[in-house]
Amino acid sequence: MAVSRRKVPIAEQKPEERILNFKEVCLGYTLEEGREEAARCLQCKKAPCIAGCPVEIDIPAFIRAVRDGDMAESVRIMAEYTNLPAVCGRVCPQETQCEGVCTVGRIKDSEPVAIGKLERLVADWNYARENTRVSDVPKEHIGRAAVIGAGPAGLTVAGDLAKAGYEVTMFEALHAPGGVLMYGIPEFRLPKSIVGLEIGAITRLGVKFEPNIVVGRTITMSEIMDDFDACFIGVGAGAPHFQGIPGTTLNGVYSASEYLTRINLMHAYEFPEHDTPVKKSRKVVVIGGGNVAMDAARSAKRLGAESVSIVYRRSLEELPARIEEYHHAVEEGIVFHWLTNPTVYSDDGTGRLRGVKCIKMELGEPDASGRRRPVPIPDSEFFMEADTAVEAIGQGANRVLLSTFPELKLNKWGYIDADPKTGATSVPGVYAGGDIVTGAATVILAMGAGKAAAAAIDAYIREKKRTQAARSE
Ligand code: FAD
Ligand code: SF4
Ligand code: SF4
Repeated sequence: MAVSRRKVPIAEQKPEERILNFKEVCLGYTLEEGREEAARCLQCKKAPCIAGCPVEIDIPAFIRAVRDGDMAESVRIMAEYTNLPAVCGRVCPQETQCEGVCTVGRIKDSEPVAIGKLERLVADWNYARENTRVSDVPKEHIGRAAVIGAGPAGLTVAGDLAKAGYEVTMFEALHAPGGVLMYGIPEFRLPKSIVGLEIGAITRLGVKFEPNIVVGRTITMSEIMDDFDACFIGVGAGAPHFQGIPGTTLNGVYSASEYLTRINLMHAYEFPEHDTPVKKSRKVVVIGGGNVAMDAARSAKRLGAESVSIVYRRSLEELPARIEEYHHAVEEGIVFHWLTNPTVYSDDGTGRLRGVKCIKMELGEPDASGRRRPVPIPDSEFFMEADTAVEAIGQGANRVLLSTFPELKLNKWGYIDADPKTGATSVPGVYAGGDIVTGAATVILAMGAGKAAAAAIDAYIREKKRTQAARSE
């Protein structure tokens, strides 16, 4: 039977409906659609998709089970490799990971197998059955491990170590676990209820969650190191960068971090039921070209802004956002100003934002990142009226923990210097991974780092216990 060149289409909320709500845009495959899509997989012997996945899910095996209608088997296979399948199925940049190397995608005019959407189907099928199955957790506790930061890196370490028989305590600065999954990525891309289900499955493994603990302030690293056999630092890269142009302190200028946290974690869109509103805006300008910029712009649209523009200093070709997010933004009426950079936030005379002065750019010679450097075009300034501006130009390492733990070696960018294969840092027994090591990256790379660190922590604690036992004999 000839394999269809195109992915089985997936249902989505229509753009004109979805800009009026925060509900999920993509509605997912039905079981029948999933089986049809799964039948497009060639079941390659040396499946390149597995190497394309940072946690090396046995993709052909789980897809085969979907194709054969054995969803329970598919769930079982998935659980061997990942604690967050419903999350990854939704937000992984599949086009550059597993799907980017899929054999079907290499056939002329063909789209790869929709691996991410099938992963999501399997996870959602499982949760819809209120499957609260607890993996077989070993009874004996081998040792005690601390995890600092409950984002995807920390959650992966916690889940894997709990499954391996460790007593795990997770310390988190915020009141809810999930990291960027909870406070950054909006509800319409990743429902919080889904993140909650995946986190619930991890805490049911016996992981103890300690919210509202800022390590470096509430408790110190030396207290943690005294109490636990080893620890993992997964505190992310949540400190926003600003361009530092005149007018940044005006009322109406936000960092994307603050804007999205207020909306996602503090339900600003349900004001007055929740008490952390964001400004009601008429005209919004978002600065940046990554997923964060798309999320801020699409959230502003849903909050009722008349017009939302994205200002990006390079062109569509260099846009770092996922292509699916870009298409969704265009469908929702977000206007893109390519090769444009803001120079000044203008004051309305009362300390509020009146608009953004911008300048047109052109691409010059490649810079250190290999991308062509944007260069301002003289005398090309223009003015954009706006009452809200959101800067989404990147994030860096938060210094709270790092500044109180000088023993930890950092790299030249201020991130933790950790072994990429194990997460080992300059301090024995202290491991690190995710955005705090790589700088802002992706959920699945943070999970991959967490998986590797969990294995290394397991080996480290076992060796430590062996040495202690030998000494006491
Ligand atoms: P985080 O998710 O940042 O989690 C770190 C946790 O540590 C946080 O909960 C924080 O509160 C806590 N913490 C910080 N300091 C302390 C402390 N001192 N003590 C205790 N706890 C502390 N990636 C994708 O793959 N796909 C996407 O579509 C995507 N969209 C994104 C959209 C937005 C708006 C943002 C901001 C990021 C997006 N990313 C996306 C990137 C992705 O979310 C991150 O790469 C990933 O979450 C990093 O995981 P992490 O565990 O390293 O850190
Ligand atoms: Fe692909 Fe991400 Fe799933 Fe891995 S976790 S198979 S990269 S969608
Ligand atoms: Fe199936 Fe594509 Fe993986 Fe081959 S590479 S096993 S076709 S998903």
